[in-house]
Amino acid sequence: MRKPHATPSAIPTSTSMGLISCHACGLLSSRALASLPCPRCGASLHHRKPDSLARTWAFLLAAFILYIPANLLPIMVTQSILGVSHDTILSGVLFLWISGAKGLALLVLVASVIVPLLKMMILVLLLLSVHFRSTWRIRQQTRLYCLLEVIGRWSMLDIFVVALLAALVRAGMLATIIPGAGALAFASVVVLTMLASLSFDPRLLWDSLDAKDD
Ligand SMILES: [Zn+2]
Repeated sequence: MRKPHATPSAIPTSTSMGLISCHACGLLSSRALASLPCPRCGASLHHRKPDSLARTWAFLLAAFILYIPANLLPIMVTQSILGVSHDTILSGVLFLWISGAKGLALLVLVASVIVPLLKMMILVLLLLSVHFRSTWRIRQQTRLYCLLEVIGRWSMLDIFVVALLAALVRAGMLATIIPGAGALAFASVVVLTMLASLSFDPRLLWDSLDAKDD
């Protein structure tokens, strides 16, 4: 249970002790060594990930822009004797739902529409929080970042679903499936949000708290 009067800011941190930790091996070094190679592993030492906010914003904005074509452009083009059909993510979900595969429809909807949007929204919240030096629910925000890392591992799930569908359709009838432009946009959204969450330094959230105490 969380103590009601726990003050995380009272806990000594590497910053308050004038130390920096190596991003690669975790070794604590004096802050005077910043931007020099780590004495143990040779990686460049930084107090925080360099340009964390600018990089995260850049990746995130690009992801937001590409999220639109990812949902509007066809993700797969199916050519069969019945003709050519262009399917977007949502029309694919609708098709699965109508043809009775409701579980699969929900899985695709969650993995390819809801999860990427949720990830981007969480990153915006974290970035704004650092930007405005907010200390509101800082523990929960740090947990949100951990959640991002956990769901990040599952964000390529949708590609597997598309591959699976392609295999099913191919096996069932004579058809050619070509990935549409939407698939490229979708893959870019997945990679960009992954890069955005990697660029974000969650310790920046706690820096606001330390700055308030000074
Ligand atoms: Zn190191």
